[in-house]
Amino acid sequence: MPQNSPDIDGLHAELIELLGEKSVSREDRALDRASVDGAYLSPVISEKLPLGHADLVAWPTDAAAIAATVAASVRHGVPITPRGKGTGNYGQAIPFAGGLVLDTSRARAIVEVGDGYLVADAGAPMAALEQAAIATGQQLLMYPSTANSTLGGFLSGGSGGTGSIRHASNSDGFVLALDVAHPASGGELVHVEGEDAQPYVHTYGTAGIIARATVRLEPLQDWRGFYASFDRFEDALALIHPFALLEPTPRLTSADNPILSDALPRVPGLADGRASLRAILDVATLDEATRLVESVGGRVEDVTEGPIETMKISMVSYNHPIEWLQKAYPDTYFHVEVSGDALVTRIDDVQAVYPGGMLHIESQHGRPIGMLAGEYVSEDEVYAGFDKLLALGVGFHNPHQWFVDFHPDRTRELATRTDPDGLLNPGKLVPPTVVTGGKVS
Ligand SMILES: Cc1cc2nc3c(=O)[nH]c(=O)nc-3n(C[C@H](O)[C@H](O)[C@H](O)COP(=O)(O)OP(=O)(O)OC[C@H]3O[C@@H](n4cnc5c(N)ncnc54)[C@H](O)[C@@H]3O)c2cc1C
Repeated sequence: MPQNSPDIDGLHAELIELLGEKSVSREDRALDRASVDGAYLSPVISEKLPLGHADLVAWPTDAAAIAATVAASVRHGVPITPRGKGTGNYGQAIPFAGGLVLDTSRARAIVEVGDGYLVADAGAPMAALEQAAIATGQQLLMYPSTANSTLGGFLSGGSGGTGSIRHASNSDGFVLALDVAHPASGGELVHVEGEDAQPYVHTYGTAGIIARATVRLEPLQDWRGFYASFDRFEDALALIHPFALLEPTPRLTSADNPILSDALPRVPGLADGRASLRAILDVATLDEATRLVESVGGRVEDVTEGPIETMKISMVSYNHPIEWLQKAYPDTYFHVEVSGDALVTRIDDVQAVYPGGMLHIESQHGRPIGMLAGEYVSEDEVYAGFDKLLALGVGFHNPHQWFVDFHPDRTRELATRTDPDGLLNPGKLVPPTVVTGGKVS
């Protein structure tokens, strides 16, 4: 039974017994590193840091040891914040209540690669999973632009990426089964399949910690990295929809205006001072893609080959152009995640919502999605823009908060059974009344 106050010393001693001295730490540097995530990308959250600090960090090296670590922590009444690579948006992996950070990054075994599926421990990097799939003539349905992040972290904190034009988000059939550990499982792994696995996806470990996952693979395709440039951003935007309709479907399509494009790390495919369109295309669609680019006055800059080259395009997609923009112009920009046809049809109005507004755009499952960057003035100005986005018919997600907002009721209901004392990632699964207008009060 959990005790009234967390027994950190007792847990430390037990984890040394259980995992070995090198797999547990209370050193300042390790604790500092375990207490931060991608929150630095949000100036709103950055102003509130630090939001929590770990007392202890542990690195179990396989799925069974993850379950044993959870059980030990529960015995000592210590809150547990799971962690993969720590790249998550934004504050999700910060240990608000202190306690244990359970870092899965050393539990990286790829257990099995079968026909149409792959089984791996939570800490396996997505890029390694893609390599393992390729070695068997298959590919992951999707992986995030943070390709070195972990399987457990991507399933718990992420949503999509390369492959999402066709396969949508990681809660849309990517996950076949999970082995989870939670306070009610008493040190055992609980195997959940199909629909029963979905409530653990994108809920930040608040209902259970993913120790092992089985995800879907599909037959490998012959991909090419494709770079085109344009005088005007509008011409690149005009191709977002036609590219999504290419058959076979591209794995990724990203477009940026010249300011964002110039902030990206330089490769031969990026032309200085020009708008950029980058795509991962099936080799069979190269001619049609080239025709489309030339039809709007653009030019193809480069075509690259091989998984490393195509992954380079993945790694400057989704939130990455914003990160590079922030590096080029420190302390200037924030962003909001946006979606809908208005991103293409009303680009000027959308960008005018915030001073200095500019859009990074992707294509996901038949609709444009993107990151709207703007010059950061204050948190209130960020929220004031939300009404304007709504009026334009733009869907948005507020990245400047850390609460579970994907099926929160379902997650709360599950967590009352799996984590009755609220030890898993405390502070992320808040009651509905605490959340007002996308803002945590
Ligand atoms: C520049 C940048 C680009 C990004 N691009 C993308 C993108 O393309 N697509 C996308 O979906 N996301 C993206 N993200 C968000 C994030 O990088 C990904 O979701 C990433 O896959 C998270 O993995 P991680 O190993 O870093 O997880 P962490 O950051 O360590 O954890 C993420 C969340 O999951 C929880 N967690 C971690 N491991 C487990 C586990 N085993 N069981 C249960 N809960 C767990 C953590 O407590 C936290 O709440 C981006 C972030 C940044 C900063």
